[in-house]
Amino acid sequence: MMQSATVPAEGAVKGLPEMLGVPMQQIPQCAGCNQHILDKFILKVLDRHWHSSCLKCADCQMQLADRCFSRAGSVYCKEDFFKVPGTKQ
Ligand SMILES: [Zn+2]
Ligand SMILES: [Zn+2]
Repeated sequence: MMQSATVPAEGAVKGLPEMLGVPMQQIPQCAGCNQHILDKFILKVLDRHWHSSCLKCADCQMQLADRCFSRAGSVYCKEDFFKVPGTKQ
């Protein structure tokens, strides 16, 4: 897993825009991983685009593909958004 992170992502992305007929600059970049998003489903949260797998709760890191709540520029799951600060279970 560590190995794949060091491989430049360009190789995988190159050629795809031509296949899709879309200029590279029109492909949204993920605010989470800064890669272009070539998924069918693009999440738009806080005026930024996200891979469905990159949008995670700032608190518990849960994936938020389903629904999410934002506050002060961060994204949270329902539980963390509504939980009262200072209370611990
Ligand atoms: Zn991403
Ligand atoms: Zn959470």
